[in-house]
Amino acid sequence: MVKKKVSIAPTSLKFLVQDIPHEGFHLSYDVSQDDLELTRDDGRISGTLHLDCDVHHSPEGVCVKGTLSGTVIRECVRCLGDYQELVVIPCLGLFQGDQTKVESTTVVLDDEWSDVGFEQIEEIYPCQDERVELDIMLREQCILSTPIQRLCRSDCRGLCQHCGTNFNQSSCACADTMNFSPMVAALQQLKKKL
Ligand SMILES: [Zn+2]
Ligand SMILES: [Zn+2]
Repeated sequence: MVKKKVSIAPTSLKFLVQDIPHEGFHLSYDVSQDDLELTRDDGRISGTLHLDCDVHHSPEGVCVKGTLSGTVIRECVRCLGDYQELVVIPCLGLFQGDQTKVESTTVVLDDEWSDVGFEQIEEIYPCQDERVELDIMLREQCILSTPIQRLCRSDCRGLCQHCGTNFNQSSCACADTMNFSPMVAALQQLKKKL
């Protein structure tokens, strides 16, 4: 008698293709900063980000579709202060083994999944040794979702280029000094550096 394999979602972001049951599975996982190894520019995760995704087999590879949501701490490009951003990052990717060849333009999935056209899947990841490494995909999609102009608020007033005063909090006299005597300002700058 062949014992039927019980399908359990993996408890890690890395798993083997062969461990994905025929019907696929739903994965609910709390992703930490360490899981994604993000740099300061990519943002820091406050606590964890929650991953909710479906993992399915398709003839083109293993298809992963879901969202990564939570709070990311970013550094404002103007005032260099930290601010929090609530994110809901759509995660859609296809993991392909060495053997898989892309021949069609649509990922053939079951009814529930028919909304996923191959053209919608922009990210294709290799699965080396038949291993699906979701952390690689999540890391990349986190980075792609990082805004180029990261601002703590749209009207952030930034820092004084001369004395470093945060204009969101206070003001300084540098602008006045500059207006009257660029020489004095230049000297102040120099003094600061020494
Ligand atoms: Zn700012
Ligand atoms: Zn100043």
